[in-house]
Amino acid sequence: MTMSLFYPTVYKNRVTDITLQDLEQLGVRGLLLDVDNTLTTHGSQELSEDVRRWLETMKQAGIALTVVSNSWEWRVAPFATKLGLRHISLSCKPSPFGFLRGIHRLKLPKRECAAVGDQVFTDILGANLCGITCIQLQPIALETGKPFLALRRKWERKIYAKRKERET
Ligand SMILES: [Mg+2]
Repeated sequence: MTMSLFYPTVYKNRVTDITLQDLEQLGVRGLLLDVDNTLTTHGSQELSEDVRRWLETMKQAGIALTVVSNSWEWRVAPFATKLGLRHISLSCKPSPFGFLRGIHRLKLPKRECAAVGDQVFTDILGANLCGITCIQLQPIALETGKPFLALRRKWERKIYAKRKERET
C-alpha cells in the first residue's frame, strides 16, 4: 500500500472553510459528507449555526450533498434529517461501496464528487480507494472515552509525521 493513499487532495480546517471557489477549482459539484467530527462533534445531534449556513450556501449554489457515515442508523438518520439531506449509515468506509452508493445518488460523474471527512483510515483512504477527490478536515474535537478511536488517532499522527517528512 503506497503512502499516497493516505493523502487528501486538499486540507481544510473546518467544513465551513470549504468555499464554492474551492469546489470550482477542484471541478467538484457534489459532496459526500462525513458526520462525526466533520459536521458536528462525535455523537452529537447539534447543528451549529455556521454549519447550517454553510450547507444552505452549498445547496443554493446547486452543490449536490449527501451524508455518508460509518455510524449507526439511529445516530445518523436524525442528524441528516435535521440537515435536510439523505444519508447512508454503516457505510463501511474505507470500503468504496458507501461512497459509490453516495455518488450514484448524487447523479454526478465520479470525477465531480468529493469526500469530506476527518479520518485518514476511513474518509481519506476510502476516497482514494474509490478514486475521488478528497477534502480532509481537522476533527472538530478529539473523541474522549473511545479507546479504539484514540488508537486510530495515534496511527493518524504517525501518518501525519510521515507526510510532513515527505512534504518538507
Ligand atoms: Mg468523522
